[in-house]
Amino acid sequence: MTIAPSGPRAATLITDNAQLIGGEWVPAVSGETIEVVNPANRDVLAAVPRGTAEDIDAAVRAAEAAFPSWRDTDATTRGTLITRWAQLIEENESELDQLESQEVGRPHWGTPPMARILRFVAGQTDKVSGLSLPTHSPDVLGLTLREPYGVVGSVIPWNAPGPMFVNDTGAAIAAGNTIVVKPAEDAPLTPLALARLALDAGIPPGVVNVVTGYGPEAGAALPAHPGVRRMSFTGSPATGSSVMEACAKNLVPLHLELGGKSPQVVFPDADLDAAIPAIVTGITLNTGQICAAGSRVVVDRAMHAEVVRRLAEAMAQVSVGPWYEPVRMGPLINAKQHARVLDYVRSGQEEGAELVLGGGVPAGETFERGFFVEPTLFDRVQPGMRIAQEEIFGPVLSVIPVDGEAEALAVANGTDYGLVASVWTGDVGRAVRMTRGLQAGQVAVNAALGAGVIGGPFGGYRHSGFGRTMGADAVLDYTQVKTVSLRGTA
Ligand code: NAD
Repeated sequence: MTIAPSGPRAATLITDNAQLIGGEWVPAVSGETIEVVNPANRDVLAAVPRGTAEDIDAAVRAAEAAFPSWRDTDATTRGTLITRWAQLIEENESELDQLESQEVGRPHWGTPPMARILRFVAGQTDKVSGLSLPTHSPDVLGLTLREPYGVVGSVIPWNAPGPMFVNDTGAAIAAGNTIVVKPAEDAPLTPLALARLALDAGIPPGVVNVVTGYGPEAGAALPAHPGVRRMSFTGSPATGSSVMEACAKNLVPLHLELGGKSPQVVFPDADLDAAIPAIVTGITLNTGQICAAGSRVVVDRAMHAEVVRRLAEAMAQVSVGPWYEPVRMGPLINAKQHARVLDYVRSGQEEGAELVLGGGVPAGETFERGFFVEPTLFDRVQPGMRIAQEEIFGPVLSVIPVDGEAEALAVANGTDYGLVASVWTGDVGRAVRMTRGLQAGQVAVNAALGAGVIGGPFGGYRHSGFGRTMGADAVLDYTQVKTVSLRGTA
């Protein structure tokens, strides 16, 4: 089905120039706006408030005011309201999917996961429990209570705004916290629509607040606000580091989900019929703008030539175009990201890697106004090159030939990152050794990320961040522990 270039506006879910503070849809204090652009053709999709520290302050105060009553709402009711939110998301699934496609530029990639994520945390809401502890005296009870922090601050990126929004918000409010979210300036519409549905579901005003705006203006004000008791940041390592600095000043704990340079390690006994399509999807899905994108293929020289040939064939088949056409890959998010990805291609060539496929902007009228790049394959990449070390966040795949298991492991672990790693092999012993040896928060064997595991904790090693989302402890992670000694009176 072809939809008009900008697609129908998700009019029922979005109010122009409005952010959500204390249950009210309001413009920025400054009155200024930011234009949200369709990256496939640069059409303006909507104007959102250009929030600043003043708007963050109003939102934190609203979240503080809503906190006591939300904290004291019984856990079953909180879970029921979050489940109702998930239901409304399902009822509005196609509109939300279109909205996210429009602002991110991605073709439809299956059922959006937001409702599923919320149902998972809703199920944990009434399972947050403490311990009974032994005591030195029979007239004393020892207990631990799990309590929410208060106001949570969340800053999220643009690449998957819907899942990012519900991931932080769902777990934080399930535990009884209230939240202020600062979505990315490039993709704030899906978060705003999701916040509207939270309100419609009956989640009380002030529990979920959204302030739109630029990072240095609105985002930086959130971890710096003294009313914020817990932070969550998803984005680049550089910004994560500055958010952590602000949290250090305020002595606020935080959770960081940062970037990746994930290896796909391919051994001679790998099933290439399974590996090649998974690797190609891994680097072209969302135009490579996924923190978990497998951007390095670490391959044994014994079958290096065959792997490169097959990757090139498969990548050449990846159709590129605007999201509303039946294509596999859309544009990049914005002009800056476009220039950045093309700069990495130049850097790869200058450093002596062999450009096998792509590397440019696709030709034709369709591509003239959008931020398109071709699926790009580099061979004979040296582990120290920039394209092998730095996160490109685009559809650029680097093949690094190695000799044997030890070198494969050293190269796979040889970046600052440690988010996801895949191993492709038919040898169980090798799979076990590699799984233990790989420095990454997630390891997949003969599969790309996750392979459909439900409830797998997600997060990074090293510069990919710390803390875990999505697992059995997702809600517990938004609580703090209070030890209680209860002595009965005579
Ligand atoms: P970014 O760090 O530039 O921006 C992320 C968010 O931070 C945006 O909302 C932005 O407005 C805000 N921001 C910018 N400057 C800020 C500041 N000084 N203080 C507070 N907030 C500020 O990242 P990006 O380029 O938009 O996103 C891509 C990055 O996010 C990649 O590195 C990617 O790997 C990472 N990412 C990680 C995960 C994960 O789960 N590990 C998921 C998605 C994206």
